[in-house]
Amino acid sequence: MVIIMHIDMDCFFAAVEEKHNPEIKGKPVVIGADPKNGAGRGVAATCNYKAREFGIHSAMSITQAYKRCPTAVFLQPNFKRYSSTSQRLMKIFKSFAEKTQQVSIDELYLDISNKVQNYQEAKNYANRIKKVVKKKEQLNCSIGIGPNKLIAKIASDMNKPDGITVVPPEEVHNFLSPLPVRKLIGIGPKTEQKLATLNIRTIEQLRRCSKQTLLNRFGVWGGYMHNMALGKGSTAVSNYLKRKSIGKQRTFDEDTKNSEDIVQLLYTLAEMVHAKLTERKFYFKTVTIVVRFADFDTRTSASSTHIATNNINVIKESINKLIHPYLHDQRKMRLVGVRLSNFTQKQPEQMLLC
Ligand SMILES: [Mg+2]
Repeated sequence: MVIIMHIDMDCFFAAVEEKHNPEIKGKPVVIGADPKNGAGRGVAATCNYKAREFGIHSAMSITQAYKRCPTAVFLQPNFKRYSSTSQRLMKIFKSFAEKTQQVSIDELYLDISNKVQNYQEAKNYANRIKKVVKKKEQLNCSIGIGPNKLIAKIASDMNKPDGITVVPPEEVHNFLSPLPVRKLIGIGPKTEQKLATLNIRTIEQLRRCSKQTLLNRFGVWGGYMHNMALGKGSTAVSNYLKRKSIGKQRTFDEDTKNSEDIVQLLYTLAEMVHAKLTERKFYFKTVTIVVRFADFDTRTSASSTHIATNNINVIKESINKLIHPYLHDQRKMRLVGVRLSNFTQKQPEQMLLC
């Protein structure tokens, strides 16, 4: 039986600050730009639960946060402190499973399939982990347990702070059904709005919608969303920096020289690799295209950006540039592919989290 665990620290930055400045404990704490008595610029990176009671949330402008609670403790982020704490935490977590995958400074997946027999034991295992973290680091985390990473991730968010949520395979549908579609990974405000125009607001409604309707409306991404609504997700737990590339290739039904068809297929492949990319929270620097001609002559061509990105348009622009010389070849094409590589982890400074 596959059992995946997702661990997420509770209000990580704020909790680390509270630990180092015990006098601020119990007060609303906002980490981010200097509010300068209401004249500051920039945003709140994160805040604790007490601050949230005042309506403050991450990514809010710091002046707005100041307006809502001028007496809050405003701190500038100390990334060195967060990252050294994170390293110690990850060491603890990794001692509980051989297969782990860190996804951000304060989050990781554990494959505990070979550590426990069933979901009840998994819950006990989660309790043990939480106890060790509390004892060694005086910090709280929330843990989700499920049959794949998607379910584990959504579950860890259900009983924050300091919670454990267990979703065995037979409860996946009931668990997901009432939740808003936004809970699914990759569904942001824009997709949420588009789904609402189809009268889809909950995951149950998304599941009941025909896959074809979603494919027609959203392309490959629609099929992907439908799979998530069914509770399907990846069970591959491995540290992503070890993963060297994400690629897809397809053979044409019939060898072709039609530029439009070629570019269209490359765009579709781009969307597929991009969906994988966002699922794994990767940022890439290099786009490679593969072209195989009818005589099986196979060429690859790559381009890289200076800064890692997860922007689909960068993939498509690279495709336009890279495919251009091949479109002038006399031969027909048999297959094309798109590959992303050169992955990096986003810097903690760029992350907004809680
Ligand atoms: Mg967190």
